[in-house]
Amino acid sequence: MNLLNIKKSLKGILILTIFIGGQAFAQDSLATVKAETGDGILLLLRKQGLHPYDYFDEFVALNIENLRDSVHLYAGRTYKIPNVKLDTVPVVAEIKEQSTEIKKVEGKEYKIFGDKHSAVVSRSERLKGAVYYLVSGHGGPDPGAMAVYGGKSIAEDEYAYDITLRLAKELLSHGATVYIIIRDPNDGIRDERILKIDHDEVAYLDKVIPLNQVARLKQRVDIVNQLHSKNRGKFQRLIVTHVDSRSKGQNIDVFFYHHEKSKNGKKLAESIHKTFQKKYKKYQPNRTYSGTFQDRTSLYLVKRTHPAMTFIEIGNIRNKKDQRRILDPDNRQALAKWISEGVILDFESGEIGRIR
Ligand SMILES: [Zn+2]
Repeated sequence: MNLLNIKKSLKGILILTIFIGGQAFAQDSLATVKAETGDGILLLLRKQGLHPYDYFDEFVALNIENLRDSVHLYAGRTYKIPNVKLDTVPVVAEIKEQSTEIKKVEGKEYKIFGDKHSAVVSRSERLKGAVYYLVSGHGGPDPGAMAVYGGKSIAEDEYAYDITLRLAKELLSHGATVYIIIRDPNDGIRDERILKIDHDEVAYLDKVIPLNQVARLKQRVDIVNQLHSKNRGKFQRLIVTHVDSRSKGQNIDVFFYHHEKSKNGKKLAESIHKTFQKKYKKYQPNRTYSGTFQDRTSLYLVKRTHPAMTFIEIGNIRNKKDQRRILDPDNRQALAKWISEGVILDFESGEIGRIR
């Protein structure tokens, strides 16, 4: 099967899916659909036969005045569905049942993302040659910050891990080499609001995570630095993600830190920060974005790791407003996507000299 045929058959499948869904798409007018109770943007798009992540931004832009916090649907309201772009490859996972042949050609399977999300479709080569180390905060015996939501305990490490996996998948789809440093053999990307707390995370590849804080941090620093020297000469970046709660009840938005002496770390943090500002401006004109990056040399990881890095703090797990954002899987996906866009911006603007 050559590439042209694959493209043709993908179109065929896409059109078929839409047809089964009973939706007709006119060339120049947009289809609409009424949101049902329990619908999120991803689910709504999926039901329409669209690859939800490819159409997420466009959907938000089309329906911004009908969304709460830019990402939440109101049940009973009518929403515009983006027109299908025929050159968009639908997600492999959805093709799976219909053709295994295409899957082999177009996608790669990564078990770490879980059964439902294991297929990674190649979307571009924009990050070809770049190496990323992704560290989600805490893990193993240390759940990080904890809170109670709807009578259930929630833990920082599970949410940081979910966002990190989503980010890894985005970066892979653009051709990057990605090392997921903190890993859970059986969690994968999870589309639930309450992520079950477990303690079986390990450090790359299968090291037990120690309970002692210094030992725990030293372990991940050593792993990253070893890989960094193995990949010497390549463009390498480290991204650490936390969902912290410095002071209870405080709404912290998203913060980006970097090492004060690292020009490339600063550029990475600024690129992601810039992307977030642009998104907030586009989708939330009335909400001021208060996150910013600043030097935090006291942070153990920032000081001791060798690749240029940024330390991202996504909200406060104990803050009600932040919780809404973190618990919603659509939102975690949007956050991961925005980070990935900042990462691409950083890579495409090149490296500053030879310093980290
Ligand atoms: Zn933390």
